[in-house]
Amino acid sequence: MSECIFCKIASGKIPAKEVYRDDRVVAIEDLNPQAPTHLLVFPVAHHDTIADASSGGGPLAGELIDVAARLGTERGGDAGFRLVVNTGADGGQTVGHVHVHVLAGRRMAWPPG
Ligand code: 5GP
Ligand code: ZN
Repeated sequence: MSECIFCKIASGKIPAKEVYRDDRVVAIEDLNPQAPTHLLVFPVAHHDTIADASSGGGPLAGELIDVAARLGTERGGDAGFRLVVNTGADGGQTVGHVHVHVLAGRRMAWPPG
């Protein structure tokens, strides 16, 4: 099976603007930002969705949220930030490698469309 786009970014085969990396988690700038700060936090290992990433009961889903919340706090400051995990077709997921969006730097509407 060919690697997905985020697997290729995680392994360095294609470039991205990385803002964080550890053994298990990578964070990059989104190519098509929807806010002044728009980061994507995803695991080095491939999992299709957040449901898959958490299904084994391991710490991975929590690790993604931890990194995302830290980056959101750094970027958003007192004004705040938003974490989004689009999942499946109805959730609007377009890249099938779980990722947490970190959005900050502008006031965002709720509910989403
Ligand atoms: P989703 O719609 O799956 O929740 O979000 C996928 C996100 O990945 C989109 O915001 C899109 O702009 C971003 N994206 C897609 N391909 C690339 C890429 O090659 N590099 C980067 N940095 N972001 C990408
Ligand atoms: Zn992947």
